[in-house]
Amino acid sequence: MSDQLAYLDHAATTPLRPEARAAMLPWLGERFGNPSGAHRVARAARQAVDEARDAVAEVVGCRPGEVVFTGGGTEADNLAVRGVHAARPGPVLCSAVEHEAVLRPVAEVGGSTVPVDARGVIDLEALEARLTADTTLVSVMVANNEVGTVQPVGAVAEVVHRRAPTASVHADAVQATSWLPLPDLLAGIDLVSVSSHKVGGPQGVGALVVRGGTPIRALALGGGQERELRSGTHDVAGIVGFAAALRATLAAQDRTAARVRALRDRLADGLLDAVPGAVETGPGRDERLPGALHVCLPGVESEALLFLLDEAGVCASAASACASGAQQASHVLAAMGVPADRARGALRLTVGWSTTDAEVDHALAAVPAAVARLQGVPA
Ligand code: PLP
Repeated sequence: MSDQLAYLDHAATTPLRPEARAAMLPWLGERFGNPSGAHRVARAARQAVDEARDAVAEVVGCRPGEVVFTGGGTEADNLAVRGVHAARPGPVLCSAVEHEAVLRPVAEVGGSTVPVDARGVIDLEALEARLTADTTLVSVMVANNEVGTVQPVGAVAEVVHRRAPTASVHADAVQATSWLPLPDLLAGIDLVSVSSHKVGGPQGVGALVVRGGTPIRALALGGGQERELRSGTHDVAGIVGFAAALRATLAAQDRTAARVRALRDRLADGLLDAVPGAVETGPGRDERLPGALHVCLPGVESEALLFLLDEAGVCASAASACASGAQQASHVLAAMGVPADRARGALRLTVGWSTTDAEVDHALAAVPAAVARLQGVPA
């Protein structure tokens, strides 16, 4: 086991930012009110939640009253798909490369998927052809969690509103929030999912933005919190930490993105040089999230490679992690038309706000060595 660690799995989760930790600590100690109450301790908690709401609204570009706090990105996606379908039953569409948190509820309500091209970009003509006057919801992610492809969500909204004027458009911005100017991208989008732990906030907190006038029904019934859309006592510490992480992210977004992009490019160039036959997956680097690198490596199986990398102190992944930790065949690569034999050697390395040059150096030494060992090439 190597003592050196290169954490290159920021798309799975990114470390808690110090600003988030500092903001949370009082709410894990002397501050503790239930925001739904009426007395001063409760009112202080409500004020903290409302200030956090302002931060989410600023990052997404919506009104604070449109923010519904949830228990993470998965819950936000489920509320969007199942909640809109419950309010207005009808055909639902999503791209073929959505996260399971969208794909599975879409399948549950009888919806279907729209194909993507070899870069992972949604086929707008196919989308247009499938829209009908009674389509109720179209869900397309802002950026993909496996390969980092950025989707033309503005063009999606334009097509949907033209062909199916009563349909709502949902965008899963969970992976994009750290990197892209959401207010510019999300004009015309009715529902937006965001998640705290992908921006350096705590795990288990997120939000669904529901623009005024969007038909939607709650999934969890109870005390009527969050404008009746998400009952349950707020996770005040989590929400406050989420907001602090968002503010820290926004304050240095361009600078962090440029630094992360340079690290990602150095990692990509180094790996492509060192591993003959390695192929970078997805669109050109400028059309991807700055931290996203996905490669297919010849003559290796992802699972064996990840095992060796873990021993060498490189934390990476292949397809998105599922609850068992096992690797599943990637529906994203399949939808992009990546041949199955190439997809077997998939490796996702994602760079984030805390990544250092030393981590990239370590990965550049460890990955080619692990690949050579699996290929049976003498060192
Ligand atoms: N959507 C996307 C694109 C994701 O990458 C993830 C997490 O990997 C989720 C949704 C789920 O978010 P959470 O982990 O907060 O439930």
